[in-house]
Amino acid sequence: MTISPQQDWQQRSLAAVWHPCTQMARAAVAPPLAIARGAGPWLYDFDGKRYFDANSSWWVNLFGHADAGLNDAIKQQLDTLPHVMLAGCTHAPAVRLAERLSARTGGALGHSFFASDGASAVEIALKQSFHSWRNLGRSDKREFVCLKNGYHGETIGALAVTDVAVFRDAYDPLLMRAHIVMSPDARLANEAAALTAMRELLAARSAQIAAVIVEPLVQGAAGMVMYSADYLRGLRRLCTEFEVHLIVDEIAMGCGRTGTFFAFEQTQPQSKADWPDFVLLSKGITGGTLPLSLVLTTEAVYQAFWSEDVARGFLHSHSYTGNALACAAANAVLDRFDAGQLDANLIQAQHLKNAFAPLAVDARVEHLRQQGMVLAFDVKDAGPRFAERFHLAARAHQLLIRPIGNTVYLMPPYLIDAATAAFLFDAVTASLNDVA
Ligand SMILES: *Cc1c(COP(=O)(O)O)cnc(C)c1O
Repeated sequence: MTISPQQDWQQRSLAAVWHPCTQMARAAVAPPLAIARGAGPWLYDFDGKRYFDANSSWWVNLFGHADAGLNDAIKQQLDTLPHVMLAGCTHAPAVRLAERLSARTGGALGHSFFASDGASAVEIALKQSFHSWRNLGRSDKREFVCLKNGYHGETIGALAVTDVAVFRDAYDPLLMRAHIVMSPDARLANEAAALTAMRELLAARSAQIAAVIVEPLVQGAAGMVMYSADYLRGLRRLCTEFEVHLIVDEIAMGCGRTGTFFAFEQTQPQSKADWPDFVLLSKGITGGTLPLSLVLTTEAVYQAFWSEDVARGFLHSHSYTGNALACAAANAVLDRFDAGQLDANLIQAQHLKNAFAPLAVDARVEHLRQQGMVLAFDVKDAGPRFAERFHLAARAHQLLIRPIGNTVYLMPPYLIDAATAAFLFDAVTASLNDVA
């Protein structure tokens, strides 16, 4: 019996590749799509079938696949300097990137530390927060606070401030203990209560707490749980009042996803003190081309490490820290934002909103919600294995989409016009009809 190239790659992948975030026994039932190439929002399999990448390949792809502008920037850098170590050396793409990100915070976060993925950025921020307090003579401050259902990555430190059972439970015995506090959720209208819970914890334990870490405006992995900028503004005030660092994890929601370059900008910071102590970027920062993450921090944190004593420095490193190719890609991403990407996103978000408006009165659906280029809704009575069933049904409608539990969400590349929004609505509702 002959098998198609598509089946061949699928079978070889199942035999040799251990896929992430996957029970491999289920992967045998729902085999991975073997993707031959990508162009714009479309991915093409080895049979020539195409799929709209509605989740931006795990939230990283901002401008579509094989974008010519990003590719050119990477190719140019490839012929100039692909990589050099960032200890003892420096290079123009890293310097420019750090300067440009600082400028986007009005100089509030003027120091960028580089790493290669989101979880590493979280580890770095936790270490920098603790170590800076320690250098200031406050080594008792070594506890961290995260929000209920929050997600910050899956290395051991990041997992300790993550509250998503499927990722966490098996490793719980290995993890440091973090405080998990009520999270704001617009569906529950509980933002004031969530701030009160945070106040109570900080009032009781701020002498031991180094930092609070949150996802701004949208808790992604929790199932696109949304809340307002008022909560973030209130949280900034609480952290200032109780002398606790605020770490804002913009790994998913940064880079224009929510309508501003940094989601935190929606708090409308009036001065440097209104910004977080740490902002983390990754995922979209290279437009889905190369791994890169950054930890942006303040003059105060930076100064806490400044010393003749080597051990008071931040000696953390990764082999590919500040990779020049990745930095070149990130600069090309920032070029798009300098050229008006946020204005384009406003219009694109409106197209999504218009196209999906009928779901607001669909009896199978509740909590239709949107924050910029994130649109989500919950499916009632979704039944067992809904996410897998919906994902498989959607493939037949040219849609690559992975619901979280019973939450279906779109986080598409920034390539939405009225026609693509209408296509997405049709494909999503057709998939819903198939599984409902
Ligand atoms: C994806 C994500 C991370 C982890 O990033 P990785 O690159 O997957 O390690 C951390 N925080 C948030 C909010 C994320 O969405």
